[in-house]
Amino acid sequence: MSWNDIATKGRILIVDDAMENIQILHQALQDEHDVLFAMNGATALHIAQHQLPDVILLDAVMPNMDGYAVCAALRTSPITRDIPIIFVTALKTPEDETRALDAGAADFISKPVNVAVVRARVRTQLTVKRQRDALRELTLTDGLTGVANRRAFDEALEAEWRRCSRAQVSIALILVDIDHFKNFNDAYGHQEGDACLKQAGAAMQRAAMRPQDLVARYGGEEFAILLPHEDIIGAEGVARKVLEEIAAMGIMHERSSAGPWVTVSMGVASLLPNESQEPSILIKSADELLYQAKGGGRNRYCLGSE
Ligand code: GH3
Ligand code: MG
Ligand code: MG
Repeated sequence: MSWNDIATKGRILIVDDAMENIQILHQALQDEHDVLFAMNGATALHIAQHQLPDVILLDAVMPNMDGYAVCAALRTSPITRDIPIIFVTALKTPEDETRALDAGAADFISKPVNVAVVRARVRTQLTVKRQRDALRELTLTDGLTGVANRRAFDEALEAEWRRCSRAQVSIALILVDIDHFKNFNDAYGHQEGDACLKQAGAAMQRAAMRPQDLVARYGGEEFAILLPHEDIIGAEGVARKVLEEIAAMGIMHERSSAGPWVTVSMGVASLLPNESQEPSILIKSADELLYQAKGGGRNRYCLGSE
């Protein structure tokens, strides 16, 4: 997403137990946005998780699960916790308003609603949300290559480690290091080196295509490919594909001992994670295997699993 998309139409979820209220809000917003609705808290949570609205308009008073409870539940999930919530309610006291804001609401609109006010408030929250998303994307992306940066990798490793531990499925990591890259820079210049890093990042992304796979720049001319739910056989498939994609770039490298073109060496590690262990053991293992691949002549991978 770019800064230019910030003003474009959003996906708005309206939550209210009264159909007439939904209709009024729907009418107010349908020209500018995609509008979804739910008539109770449980449905609202389900839609929020699966359809990822940009803004939620939430009725405070509803049977069973009220707006405050919905708000609290949305806050507990990493997927939904940053969605701005506007409370829409007939409750009018400062205490009601404070309670909504304390529950995590971004804004508060009183019933009966004024259409122009609803539109303006939704637009404001949408802009805030878009700016926050764009900023987050920026802080998690490597500026040179466009792949995930080290920080995004660290966050993903922590999260996937926990997830795979609970599900008791394996997780794999490939550490990729460009061979004789110092020589490459010396021979062709730093700018050519930068261009090579960009192409290498794109090549790795073509090799690790599942939605949960993450290609990150780990530092300098080293990349990390995180493969949740992948065993050593699957990870080897990805490593082989990386070798092919890097070879297919066909970038000349006259000062490499590994061949006439730019090549990479990889350490491929997979294990069944356990929440009592630190995810750094996976990195350590992949790093040792990478070192072996370098010692073994480069342009290759070494595998290890537990
Ligand atoms: P090896 O095959 O053992 O990995 O040798 P190497 O030369 O690739 O490894 P070394 O760690 O000695 O050198 C890494 C080089 O990567 C040195 C550094 O200048 C270069 N490098 C790191 N980051 C960047 C970058 O952002 N752009 C460019 N052009 N070069 C970079
Ligand atoms: Mg290196
Ligand atoms: Mg290197």
